[in-house]
Amino acid sequence: APAPPPARHLFSDPAEVEALRRNLLAWYDRCKRDLPWRALAATEPDADRRGYAVWVSEIMLQQTQVATVIDYYNRWMQKWPTLQALAQASLEEVNELWAGLGYYSRGKRLQEAARKVVSELAGRMPRTAEDLQKLLPGVGRYTAGAIASISYGQATGVVDGNVIRVLCRLRRIGADSSSPAVIDRLWDMANVLVDRNRPGDFNQALMELGATVCVPKAPLCGECPVKQHCQAWRRKLFGKNPPVPDVEDCGVGDCPLCPPATEPWDSSLGVTNFPRKAAKKPPRVMRTATCVLERRGCHGAPEYLIVQRPSSGLLAGLWEFPSLPLAQDLQEEKEREELAHHLQAWMGQPVAAKGLQFMGEVIHIFSHIHQTYVVYSLHLDGDVTLDPALSPSRWVTEDEFHASAVSTAMKKV
Ligand code: SF4
Repeated sequence: APAPPPARHLFSDPAEVEALRRNLLAWYDRCKRDLPWRALAATEPDADRRGYAVWVSEIMLQQTQVATVIDYYNRWMQKWPTLQALAQASLEEVNELWAGLGYYSRGKRLQEAARKVVSELAGRMPRTAEDLQKLLPGVGRYTAGAIASISYGQATGVVDGNVIRVLCRLRRIGADSSSPAVIDRLWDMANVLVDRNRPGDFNQALMELGATVCVPKAPLCGECPVKQHCQAWRRKLFGKNPPVPDVEDCGVGDCPLCPPATEPWDSSLGVTNFPRKAAKKPPRVMRTATCVLERRGCHGAPEYLIVQRPSSGLLAGLWEFPSLPLAQDLQEEKEREELAHHLQAWMGQPVAAKGLQFMGEVIHIFSHIHQTYVVYSLHLDGDVTLDPALSPSRWVTEDEFHASAVSTAMKKV
């Protein structure tokens, strides 16, 4: 078994743990942001509704900023205030409301899980982190801990990106913060720290601290309620001359939580020496040709053809202008020909490559893909009969396009 990490990386003094909880919660009570899901979690008497309200917020907040989520959350809860209401929604409605929020499989999985709670668990939300994770598809360890602590008062910790940053700084953990060994230690630490009487508030306070004070680039250490417990802050204060050896790195070269010996403390970075991550893989570079096909609708207003993407993979089930991934370094002429050929399959009639008008390029960054859309347009005079054997397709006005389940990338196009 690996040796336990040195005490300096742990919270082993009960008096310090107690003081940290007290200081953090007092700050949270004073400074917490007013957010709609917090209001619901604090006032909703029905336990299942409370769990559902927190669950929706946690899924929306994965990978998305609070400021963006608020409007989506309010509209979602207005439309589907209960698990039962969500279970009856169609996937199309879910995708329409989710459009623009990104990572679209989240909405789909949330709805599938709601259906499962209604049909298999008699509409009753599981009450513990273990059951939530085990029984609800799409609910991982973090989301389960958040729902259980905030909605049901279970004394269980949570570890998300904000918590990773705060804990790594508090205990000067400089090993790769995405490695399983470090993540396991952080979960242990979060479970030791969580306040037994107010676990939901404590977890939210720790995340709130990471989101508003202990931020990635320029943390506001002077205003931090837990700075007296923070080893990164102490190290910064003492500069090059720490007064006692135990605030230095363990220094023996085999500590699993210290920075690698080749990358010691950099005083120009201060507390942002922590956390550290292994270098990210560069995003995949992709080029896709897309064509805005336009016709006159029966009332004279222009209409555009949109087609539905496959039900799995990137942007599953969303609608887009007919699009075709391109090989890299293709000549423009060849791009046009391939796109014309692709459109021909949709329309069942020949499409002249020369008729495609080049409109420009749109770049959209997905988390792991650097996508360039090469945009063409084509005006149609007569009507076309679309091949029903291909993916679902429909003609929409501009307003209908914006109300449809289309991605932000397509709106840019
Ligand atoms: Fe973060 Fe600074 Fe507070 Fe330490 S003192 S937890 S680095 S904000």
